[in-house]
Amino acid sequence: MQTIDNFNFAGKKAFVRVDFNVPLDENFNITDDTRIRAALPTLKKILGDGGSVIIGSHLGRPKGPTDKFSLKHIKNHVSELLGVEVQFANDCMGEEAAVKAAALQPGEVLLLENLRFYAEEEGKPRGLAEDATEEEKAAAKKAVKESQKEFTKKLASYADCYVNDAFGTAHRAHASTALIAQYFDKDHKMFGYLMEKEVKAVNRILNDIQRPFTAIMGGSKVSSKIDIIENLLSKVDNLIIAGGMTYTFTKALGGHIGNSICENDKLDLALELLDKAKAKGVNMVLAVDAKIADKFSNDANTQFVPVKEIPDGWGGLDIGPETEKIFADVIRNSKTILWNGPTGVFEFDNFTHGSRAVGEAIVEATKNGAFSLVGGGDSVACVNKFGLADGVSYVSTGGGALLEAIEGKTLPGIAAIEE
Ligand code: AMP
Repeated sequence: MQTIDNFNFAGKKAFVRVDFNVPLDENFNITDDTRIRAALPTLKKILGDGGSVIIGSHLGRPKGPTDKFSLKHIKNHVSELLGVEVQFANDCMGEEAAVKAAALQPGEVLLLENLRFYAEEEGKPRGLAEDATEEEKAAAKKAVKESQKEFTKKLASYADCYVNDAFGTAHRAHASTALIAQYFDKDHKMFGYLMEKEVKAVNRILNDIQRPFTAIMGGSKVSSKIDIIENLLSKVDNLIIAGGMTYTFTKALGGHIGNSICENDKLDLALELLDKAKAKGVNMVLAVDAKIADKFSNDANTQFVPVKEIPDGWGGLDIGPETEKIFADVIRNSKTILWNGPTGVFEFDNFTHGSRAVGEAIVEATKNGAFSLVGGGDSVACVNKFGLADGVSYVSTGGGALLEAIEGKTLPGIAAIEE
């Protein structure tokens, strides 16, 4: 497989798929440029070699061309960060993009307009009437898949090589994230540095495990985590169940959970997971106490109670001190750690304690030589909120992509390069 380090970009044009899907305020100022910064090493390597860069990205979920989701808003910031005046093509297709790409000189950068202004990027039909028949839907799907081929070919025609540095969209078989790779031979397609790091971190968690391996699964619902939990049961030594999921498990085990969040249709599933864990010799670690609140609010009245004895009118919004201690002990004794999802409603300052304790235990274990991977939206927000990001081995930029990789699924964006 080709690697970015081994490839000499001198005199070459590289199509680089990045994830510049950054948050913008109402005046189109970037409020968090982490994703742009994350792609800089890749862009700088190409320019440093004497290559030129054609940047492709999406921004938001546009249904067609719209000023709100134009990448022109971020052009100047990318220029500043790169130290190179970035050119802009008002359309990722058409004459302008082709002419500007063809004229690019070594050291120059062209940013293409939002790829998702075209339905062909995602390959999903748009503008279908709500009452469209199944036949109409199928015909529209077929039509967009057909035109997607031309769209993809056109993007590929701008460049001599393809670099994918957009881990956040690696689980999507879109034109610029996966399909485009078929137009480049194996020596002319590669991961960017960010993607390389993500793939390495995931592989380490899935295939190169130092034991004990502990996964901490938090967040709100069992239903959204079920596939990951099942896959992890054949890999981990300890599986810590935290967050809102706690109460579905607790109720399934006969506990009284008051008004805590619970998926009543998943009680059997919770018991099944416990049985499977037992059969596989996995130590399922469940909460024993909870910090409960009399309303879903930061200024609610609170108390600590055993997790199986939550009074009516009260709900568990975080783990209690006993549970923190149990979780932290397991984490501190681990050599591989995966954290996905907070232990409670960490958005409320009064219910962050458990998540912070978990984060701190992970940092401690990491100091003692463990490999720790934190990923999936909210746990990343947690480690950032508590200033712990530097103390863990790797913070993934991928939400859905990371979770699907851990579920054991093949990600199209990765497969397209590795094939
Ligand atoms: P997820 O996206 O599934 O990882 O869920 C993250 C969300 O779970 C966060 O917004 C938390 O506020 C929420 N959450 C965690 N613990 C609880 C809880 N005990 N009750 C309600 N929501 C929770």
